[in-house]
Amino acid sequence: MSQKPIPVIAIHGGAGTILRSAMNAELEQRYNQALSGILQAGAALLAAGAPALEAVTEAVRLLEECPLFNAGKGAVYTEAGGHELDACVMDGATLAAGAVAGVTRVRNPVLAARVVMQHSGHVLMIGPAAQDYVAQHGIELVDPNWFDTPERLAQLQRAQQAAGGAMLDHDGATSLAKDAAEEAAPLDPDRKFGTVGAVALDANGKLAAATSTGGMTNKRVGRVGDTPVVGAGCYANDRVAVSCTGSGEMFIRAVAAYDVSALMEYAGLSLEEATRRVVQDKLMRIDGRGGLIAVDAQGGVALSFNTEGMYRGYARVGQAPVFAIYGDDGDAGDGAAS
Ligand code: ASP
Repeated sequence: MSQKPIPVIAIHGGAGTILRSAMNAELEQRYNQALSGILQAGAALLAAGAPALEAVTEAVRLLEECPLFNAGKGAVYTEAGGHELDACVMDGATLAAGAVAGVTRVRNPVLAARVVMQHSGHVLMIGPAAQDYVAQHGIELVDPNWFDTPERLAQLQRAQQAAGGAMLDHDGATSLAKDAAEEAAPLDPDRKFGTVGAVALDANGKLAAATSTGGMTNKRVGRVGDTPVVGAGCYANDRVAVSCTGSGEMFIRAVAAYDVSALMEYAGLSLEEATRRVVQDKLMRIDGRGGLIAVDAQGGVALSFNTEGMYRGYARVGQAPVFAIYGDDGDAGDGAAS
């Protein structure tokens, strides 16, 4: 008789050029506290018997509420100086999925995605109509400037002065640790990511995934990345749950999240082999930068990224959370700095 795997949750807060040299001790501590606290909250839910879907939704809601991460409060700015938020949830047991894109007033887009999944009969809803719909189901709307933070505004200004292209979040010259980062890393519009996500396996062996983002700094109004696209930035079935962060266009083209599952199902790859193949090989071939987190039905965890760092961690019920930021942080992921 095989034993039931221990429930586990993994989270990410974005990948990119996150260098020790570009981080200060106080900011690093804030990130570590956020990762550890959110992992503990997610693991506590799983320990109390909550379904994986509940645990990932709550973990992503907490990440959205934390201004350090580019989702919900603290979301990046579009080229027009606003915020357009995307999110997705997926229940691996049923393949039910819900997503919103381009919402500007939903305080917690992951909760809106849940409503779309549970009530609308659709998978993806966009813009003001999505907002009106989820509000009818009790989802909180806020003034669009509720998402503003001075740090992200400064990122937009630096991005617009420097290059004009859309930029990912936790990298080099637009990162929160800007002064050190400006010295440490040259401006590189392809190297900034800050989406958040969670994947979990619950006590009943069920899997779920959730992903939420503000997208990319200085993105075009109306641009939608991989986050709300089922199979690209978020995916779960009864084999594996995956949440991605990175250059969304490439993750869409690679169908990155689903590809992990497909490699496991059709090619017989292990979780670790499948995630490595997608992140270090398939995405790299099209210059897709970023990473993903994944949990499989046996409780295996993969935290894989092809950037210098990724805010990441996992917690198994009854065990201390494991979390890390940089690529050389021991066993917490396979980041390959380049
Ligand atoms: N994947 C997100 C997007 O393209 C960005 C990110 O991961 O920060 O919208």
